[in-house]
Amino acid sequence: KDESTVSITVVGASGDLAKKKIFPALFALYYEDFLPKHFTIYGYARSKMTDEELRNMVSKTLTCRIDKRENCGEKMEEFLKRCFYHSGQYDSLKNFAELGKKLCQHEAGRIANRLFYLSIPPNIFIDAVRCASSSASSTSGWTRVIVEKPFGRDSESSAALTRGLKQYLKEEQIFRIDHYLGKELVENLSVLRFSNLIFEPLWSRQYIRNVQLIFSEDFGTEGRGGYFDHYGIIRDIMQNHLLQILALFAMETPISLDAEDIRNEKVKVLRSMRPLKLSDVIIGQYKSHTRGGVTYPGYTDDKTVPKDSLTPTFAAAALFIDNARWDGVPFLMKAGKALHTRRAEIRVQFRHVPGNLYNRNFGTDLDQATNELVIRVQPDEAIYLKINNKVPGLGMRLDRSNLNLHYAARYSKEIPDAYERLLLDAIEGERRLFIRSDELDAAWALFTPLLKELEKKKVHPEYYPYGSRGPIGAHYLAARYNVRWGDLGLDQ
Ligand code: NAP
Repeated sequence: KDESTVSITVVGASGDLAKKKIFPALFALYYEDFLPKHFTIYGYARSKMTDEELRNMVSKTLTCRIDKRENCGEKMEEFLKRCFYHSGQYDSLKNFAELGKKLCQHEAGRIANRLFYLSIPPNIFIDAVRCASSSASSTSGWTRVIVEKPFGRDSESSAALTRGLKQYLKEEQIFRIDHYLGKELVENLSVLRFSNLIFEPLWSRQYIRNVQLIFSEDFGTEGRGGYFDHYGIIRDIMQNHLLQILALFAMETPISLDAEDIRNEKVKVLRSMRPLKLSDVIIGQYKSHTRGGVTYPGYTDDKTVPKDSLTPTFAAAALFIDNARWDGVPFLMKAGKALHTRRAEIRVQFRHVPGNLYNRNFGTDLDQATNELVIRVQPDEAIYLKINNKVPGLGMRLDRSNLNLHYAARYSKEIPDAYERLLLDAIEGERRLFIRSDELDAAWALFTPLLKELEKKKVHPEYYPYGSRGPIGAHYLAARYNVRWGDLGLDQ
């Protein structure tokens, strides 16, 4: 609306995330005309910089959509003119008050809405929130704060963080970001399931044998292991990204698409799950490996990682939801760094066809070939369903084929980055894709006992070579539940 204005302050603007993701996402929104008419962007951090220096820094990472290069330079110039910088300490009421004053000048008497994006290490979240809310909150419009993970290391530290934030903010002002929820195919999960008659009736223990949530990266910590070593792959990927996907996948039909209705259903699923048991988890850590004359470093070769670190860079786990829909269905998670491939996907393996006619009559080995639905979240987004199909010809031979929705082939438009969607939602007050505090509590309750036990017992990870498929223990874990990891098949 013309009479209101939005000021977006990126706290920690000198950092990596701000450069790589936040400013480029803001520019993409501007480029696509999604930002309100009146907006101002401020970078805030301790580093000394002029407005011009911030613009220079930011301009290096801005890009235009491949399909629309026209006016790109011009648009960038316009955008950068609306970016400013204020240097200050994160615990200084005075410095935030100075920022508030500058924001006021740009807001020029309009209704002022203010969004703070905390892109800083977690130990300074509360200080920054205290100072921003006391000295730089809006007095005429809304004030919202986006908080980046990690949201604590366990139930206690997460609860302490929530208590700290709530001293200065109401729950509806807090936008806990999990950028996986902003990914196109994760958003599409509910559409696929709830708007297609053929899926929802199959979405239960009756037809689904197991569900796999797989995340793999083909690189290690590469000198940035300091942060990671304190958290490990279970906290970094499973407890948040994969569990969020699981909750969306498995929740009951929400009453509506309202944020609270959806989040209520997600919490219900999370609270129906059994806390993880050590016996249902295997952990791994990558070790150095030489291939083709190139030596890839092991995790503990990273100078920022302690030599004797037991932190898992890989984990596989079996989770269970104790409700009527999912009773007994294993949800298998697998996440790892320095593996052979980079991908995130959801695999749904269906049950066998009862009394398989073709297997009976033709002696094919089709009893192994159950249907599998694959939702590839990244890279190269796709949804495909593996079916048994007759090979054309006079004989009766069957093979497995894919009904394939390959996004790049079907949709010419480039897919927006997750941060674009989430920033836009935060500006518009749409909370659906952000994590409510009770969701977070439920998520930590599932993982905290396991994490404590791993640390207390100093459980040693199984070592796997850099660039491999991960530790063999993941197969034994899956086999215990009669499951074969689907990503080992010859897909696409
Ligand atoms: P970063 O580069 O380490 O930190 C951002 C800024 O915070 C720095 O430029 C620095 O600015 C300030 N800072 C760093 N360490 C500090 C300290 N000990 N005390 C006070 N200020 C400090 O972090 P980032 O990679 O941009 O990530 C920001 C946040 O997002 C973190 O909470 C991180 O966990 C989370 N996150 C990052 C990614 C990613 O891809 N990088 C992904 C998901 C979540 P000044 O020195 O100029 O004040």
